[in-house]
Amino acid sequence: MVNRVVVLGGGSAGFLAAITLKARLPDLEVTVLRSQDIGILGVGEGSTIGVPEHLHNYLGIGLKEFYQKAEPMWKLGIRFLAWGKRPHFDYTFSNQMDGHYLTLPKGTGFYCDEGTFDYVGVISGLMSHNNVFIRGPSGQPLIPPNVLAYHVENKKFVAFLESYAAGLGVLVRDDTVLEVLQDDHGITGLRLASGSTVTADLYVDSSGFAAVLLGGALKEPFVSYKATLFCDRAVVGPWQRTDEPIKPYTTAETMDAGWCFQIEHEHTVARGYIYSSAFISDAAAEAEYRAKNPRAVSTRIVKFISGRYERSWVKNVIAIGNASGFVEPMEATSLAAICLECTAAAETLHDCDRVLRPSLIREYNKKCARIWDRIRQFLAIHYKFNTRLDTPFWRECREHVDLAGAADIVAYYQENGPSVLWRSTLIEADDQFNMEGYLSLLVGQQVPYRQTYTPGAEALRTWQVIQESIRQKATQAFSVKEALQVVRSPNWQWPKDLYYVPLGALGINRPGQSLRNAP
Ligand SMILES: Cc1cc2nc3c(=O)[nH]c(=O)nc-3n(C[C@H](O)[C@H](O)[C@H](O)COP(=O)(O)OP(=O)(O)OC[C@H]3O[C@@H](n4cnc5c(N)ncnc54)[C@H](O)[C@@H]3O)c2cc1C
Repeated sequence: MVNRVVVLGGGSAGFLAAITLKARLPDLEVTVLRSQDIGILGVGEGSTIGVPEHLHNYLGIGLKEFYQKAEPMWKLGIRFLAWGKRPHFDYTFSNQMDGHYLTLPKGTGFYCDEGTFDYVGVISGLMSHNNVFIRGPSGQPLIPPNVLAYHVENKKFVAFLESYAAGLGVLVRDDTVLEVLQDDHGITGLRLASGSTVTADLYVDSSGFAAVLLGGALKEPFVSYKATLFCDRAVVGPWQRTDEPIKPYTTAETMDAGWCFQIEHEHTVARGYIYSSAFISDAAAEAEYRAKNPRAVSTRIVKFISGRYERSWVKNVIAIGNASGFVEPMEATSLAAICLECTAAAETLHDCDRVLRPSLIREYNKKCARIWDRIRQFLAIHYKFNTRLDTPFWRECREHVDLAGAADIVAYYQENGPSVLWRSTLIEADDQFNMEGYLSLLVGQQVPYRQTYTPGAEALRTWQVIQESIRQKATQAFSVKEALQVVRSPNWQWPKDLYYVPLGALGINRPGQSLRNAP
């Protein structure tokens, strides 16, 4: 029976794992063991909608408390800048491409062949004006559910998680693992720099890319994604914000040998060039980054490999976070993957009353492998179809990126256009990107498809009227600064069920939705 858990690692993965386990299984004794000497990676600041869903719905962490302590900014989606032939297009956390205006004969994607993406949906409209909440009839903000993801500074986020974990009774210990002791059944203890040895029934490996337990001690094989994802390094460096507006989205911009992200915090702007070391040297990448971002003060280089371990739960070790898998940050998916891993681990332990059985672990491993493989296949289409630059890197991507599991979806699109009819067979129900993600990227990049439908003059007029009405709503909406004032006022109440999601949608079947009700 599992009574004592040691979580190795005090980054976002370690603390999210500790909180999730303790919240779901309060009788567990959970200790986070982390090395202040090694520190945390300190990047990973954009999220998808899965992160607030986990925090506020599954864990029931109050929005007010989170906003006060972690100070997140809003992310409505990603704006792909100079990506393909258009000046820009968006992938938002709403249904834009997978939507159908009833006054038009076909789904929205069929009207987006040409032109800009500025008003294809309300969320793109908001992004185009750097606004975040629509204004209701009496001037109040209207916030639809499940559209607001976060930008949050990694250090603030981890500090928040640490204090929240302490409040739940999680113990935190500062020490460094020097040696991992094991026998045929798994890990038997961790020998520490202080001279002592810690033991547990179950070890969570959240030691980041080092994967001290899963990769290091247990030597689980690593499945590389390099046939699809060529980037393996980043130059990162934030700068202080002055008077530029806070954008309610992440920007992803094409670069010579990769792409650049821009993440918006209230007082800083975080910018990073993700590149392939096979196509550009560190010095040249840094020079290209600085030429485009003259305000960057200090920079650092981060190395990574995209891929996952074959199994993430082996014997008495569950790896969560970068220690289990990593896919480069194009869609800012690692934190959401961590949340899914944490939920799956906690639900597995709960389901068996902490007496583990091999078939539960086998299914857990299938689920976690799928989480990472799906991110890989979605990212494949970002690289395969970006026709913006003719550099050696981008030529190689167009010619050789392995579409992996995305091949059927692309073939369906090429034959049928942006049709969503077979969404349910093309994409599994718990795929976080869904048809919206695929169509945003395929239509956004203007990937050619067989022209089965040409909108007539009347449909085009109707489409213009729709876009004009979106433009008006978006122009009058709350800017990020105005919205911050509103949500920081003492009387502000967040709408209930802002992040409601049934667990079944996460691919986990448990009656009931959240552990606690978020205020
Ligand atoms: C360039 C880049 C950009 C990224 N952007 C995003 C993004 O926008 N969104 C997103 O979701 N994700 C992003 N990620 C992923 C992000 O890094 C992770 O989601 C997140 O930081 C989780 O890290 P972690 O907790 O697994 O590892 P870490 O933060 O590295 O933590 C590892 C922990 O293990 C401890 N440790 C290691 N070895 C030992 C030892 N021997 N003894 C004791 N303790 C030990 C360390 O001290 C530390 O506490 C990005 C990653 C990169 C590389």
